[in-house]
Amino acid sequence: MKLNKLAREIAESPTLSLNEEARILHERGEAVINLGIGEPKNKTPINAILSAAAKLTSGEVKYTPVDGVPSLKKAIVRYTEENYDRLAGPENILVTNGAKQSLFNILFSLLSPQDQVIILAPYWVSYPEIVKMCTARPVIVTPEDGTFTPRFEDIEKAVTADTRVVIVNSPNNPSGVIYPPALLEKLVDLCERKSIHLICDDIYHKLTFDGKEACPAFRFTKKDIENSHIIIVNGVAKIYGMTGFRVGWVVAPREFIRVMTNVTAQTTSGVSPVSQAAAEGALNGLQSVVEAIRLQIQNNRDILLQEMKSFNSVRLVPPDGTFYALPDLRAYNYNSVELSKYLLKKALVVTVPGKDFGMEGHIRLSYSGTVKDVTEGIARIKWALDPTAPNEIYIGDKKMVRDWL
Ligand code: PMP
Repeated sequence: MKLNKLAREIAESPTLSLNEEARILHERGEAVINLGIGEPKNKTPINAILSAAAKLTSGEVKYTPVDGVPSLKKAIVRYTEENYDRLAGPENILVTNGAKQSLFNILFSLLSPQDQVIILAPYWVSYPEIVKMCTARPVIVTPEDGTFTPRFEDIEKAVTADTRVVIVNSPNNPSGVIYPPALLEKLVDLCERKSIHLICDDIYHKLTFDGKEACPAFRFTKKDIENSHIIIVNGVAKIYGMTGFRVGWVVAPREFIRVMTNVTAQTTSGVSPVSQAAAEGALNGLQSVVEAIRLQIQNNRDILLQEMKSFNSVRLVPPDGTFYALPDLRAYNYNSVELSKYLLKKALVVTVPGKDFGMEGHIRLSYSGTVKDVTEGIARIKWALDPTAPNEIYIGDKKMVRDWL
């Protein structure tokens, strides 16, 4: 079959395909532990369920305005005021099928062939692929010093006359790092000086630990939404644990929202009203659910840090947010794809290779599951890799003896 070259070259989503592999193993009755996928374990918040159920039982499940149901937009306007200290109008908001579609629509609407988009490594796997789908070029800036925070000077050096966008994701998937306010301040200034759009993917912004804050880029400009170079992406997937509802949104200048609304109208026609009702319920409902998720994840993070301590050769930057950690496993294998496959085969633990995030030699561990997933998952990884770990372990009800170290 003759397929489009661009489409053929788009990489498979490693996280989604690993999740599928884990599901198949699980269905076969294998005691697989999934430290690959990123989604909180909570049940859908009750206010989201009630609101979605009311929509469904009304029997009025029809097309909605393409840019989003007005009452959901009202809730997002309030959210924007509360979290970004900016007055937004409903015309500044586009509701999308998850934050992923927000990112696609933004980049599709901004980029022309050969434009450049600066992406900071380690980065979320989809950024470079979406940029390529939009016929533009990803330019990756990688920290030189083994940290997960690129230096401002390196980002500035990467800017050319073709640079249209910088994407920032803080707290960061996959490292869990929160970028320092000074870096954000300089980035906002750079983007304003050079007329570059700064996309802030804030999907994890409330999942931060130990009282640390992921400060919004809007804090470093006096401009309002209409005149700013900052474009906000957010959604209900992570902070409310509502990944399956597929609701995200963009906050941006009106004219830009209008163009993206046309893109949405000609592709998806908008988001299911049942999902939009659920998102509205979550945003208007009890916010203690967010804190409950945050606390559960912070507790898992603490356990992960504790368990990883005995892993002598592993360097781990303690995550300040999200539900991911990105340990450096170069002492065992430089090739993270090989390493992830090895851990799945030997220890039945799903991890994601750092290579997919622009950080070879690392693997991403998600600690959004249960405490048991975290402790048992790390014990198995240790058993598979580290000769100082006991050489017998139970995987499910099978006693396994290590005979390869
Ligand atoms: N941005 C980042 C950094 C993410 O990690 C994810 C989901 N893994 C998304 C966007 C997409 O979110 P959604 O599920 O709302 O499409």
